Amino acid sequence: MSAPVQPPLPAEAEVIVVGGGTAGAAVAARLVEGGREVLVLEAGPDPGPLGSPAWPADLVDATRLGTSLDWGFDSGDTYPDQVIRFERSRVLGGCSAHNGAVQTWGHRRDYDDWAAYAGPGWGTDELLPYFAAATEQLQVRTYERRELTPWQEAWLGAWTEAGVPLLDDMNGIDETVGVAPESVNIVEGVRFNSAFAYLDPLRDDPRLTIAADALVDRLILAGDRVAGVVAIRDGEPVEVRSPLVVLCGGTFCTPAVLLRSGIGPAADLRALGIEVAVDSPGVGANLHDQPFVLMTWEGSAEIERAMADRAAAGWAPDEQVMAKLASSFDPDCFDLHVLPYSPTHLLDRRSFHAGAGCLLPRSRGAVRLAGRDPEALPLVDHGFYTDPEGHDLAVLTEGVAMMRELAASPALRELLGGERAPGPVGCETAAEIAAYLRSHPDSYWHPVGTAKMGPESDPTAVADHRGAVRGVEGCLVADCALMPVIPRATTAMPAVVIGERIASFILEGVTV
Ligand SMILES: Cc1cc2nc3c(=O)[nH]c(=O)nc-3n(C[C@H](O)[C@H](O)[C@H](O)COP(=O)(O)OP(=O)(O)OC[C@H]3O[C@@H](n4cnc5c(N)ncnc54)[C@H](O)[C@@H]3O)c2cc1C
Repeated sequence: MSAPVQPPLPAEAEVIVVGGGTAGAAVAARLVEGGREVLVLEAGPDPGPLGSPAWPADLVDATRLGTSLDWGFDSGDTYPDQVIRFERSRVLGGCSAHNGAVQTWGHRRDYDDWAAYAGPGWGTDELLPYFAAATEQLQVRTYERRELTPWQEAWLGAWTEAGVPLLDDMNGIDETVGVAPESVNIVEGVRFNSAFAYLDPLRDDPRLTIAADALVDRLILAGDRVAGVVAIRDGEPVEVRSPLVVLCGGTFCTPAVLLRSGIGPAADLRALGIEVAVDSPGVGANLHDQPFVLMTWEGSAEIERAMADRAAAGWAPDEQVMAKLASSFDPDCFDLHVLPYSPTHLLDRRSFHAGAGCLLPRSRGAVRLAGRDPEALPLVDHGFYTDPEGHDLAVLTEGVAMMRELAASPALRELLGGERAPGPVGCETAAEIAAYLRSHPDSYWHPVGTAKMGPESDPTAVADHRGAVRGVEGCLVADCALMPVIPRATTAMPAVVIGERIASFILEGVTV
């Protein structure tokens, strides 16, 4: 089996899905199952169905994050002394093809808040069937205790000895703090990405056309209606006509398509020489991601030997256990993920890690166009640690203290040598930890919010609660860009649920 031969782009399509990624694959599949003819335009390659040798090995191997076929986003000039990479996969399956394959849902409050702000259809009880459907489609399962590597088991044991509740899994939507083995979309060691899960079963269906290596530049507008897209294939622009375009390019690329189409903040568009079709100040704004801090310790001979034995015996993934913990800012729920991380494939076996993510960041940044060229990557500034209250720094500072406290507990201290980062010296007080975090901005890889849904009364709400972009008929957003506020979760499952939800709106006729 090799990568499918790419068909020429058709002149027209009933529905165009821009981006066959995590959410886009779900949108396309559900629309095809509902009887619609769908053209998926994906900027990256389509290496074929599960089992095709055209898939780069690291995108299939679920023991660690994949790095092939990356878009190449980074922090550019944001930080004077460093450049941080913001990985995004440019391939069918999108980020689900290189991510940690961990599936978390968040908390009831997150989605009930979406519904209260944006409108009907997004409350937790309305979304639960879509979570269930996505869980089944992605073949999500929870690790059994006996599958955990010694490093992962040591942290799980330490948390439970410290009184943190042991949960069956991470995804009780009403549960607060606790620790559990992770739930993952890994099938026989393979990262079972959204394309395998949603598109493979439909590859022979004539209603589905997957066109890879097709970068969508912009929408074609006819008055206030969408009439199709211009895509770049082999360096040439090609027009594909369609009355309905669903944007699933992800948090960095969906706003870029809108901006190149003249939908965005008018002054910014004019400065780039782009004719303004819709003055929509929220396009590209509201970018937020969960800041992250990784701690490192030296390992003892015992844990080094145990991990080496496990790696030699077979499958030893980097992460398997996660805790939901509460900082002093949200004591009756949870606002931190803490996870032991054990990259057994790295040459430096002597380093052992755990990381914490601040789940409800208040800092906001933006995605902006670098120019009109569709191949020019948009500029990304997360605005890490810019919230005036200092909330995000304070939460992660508490996260560091929590990890240190656990590392010093009886269950872990025998396994660990000294702290390598952020300590041991000069990083003890809260102020010192905060200074370290500021100088080491890092992301938990979950950018969202750059084409948010919201009420008409909010001029920064790019789309309505059905994902319909305001100011043009026939254009929807269905990916992480649509989230008004990030849920206290990793974002793959919420992305798929957005795809499922928007597809159902379309099929119910709520949208078009
Ligand atoms: C390294 C890493 C690890 C992660 N680990 C986890 C994890 O373990 N668990 C978890 O829940 N989340 C994880 N995440 C986050 C999660 O994977 C993403 O939030 C989610 O997959 C994003 O889904 P999406 O559909 O919004 O975008 P994507 O999956 O990025 O899909 C966008 C798609 O659109 C295509 N595209 C973009 N622009 C265009 C264009 N102009 N024309 C045509 N196609 C275009 C892209 O190539 C891509 O295929 C991780 C992310 C990263 C980067």
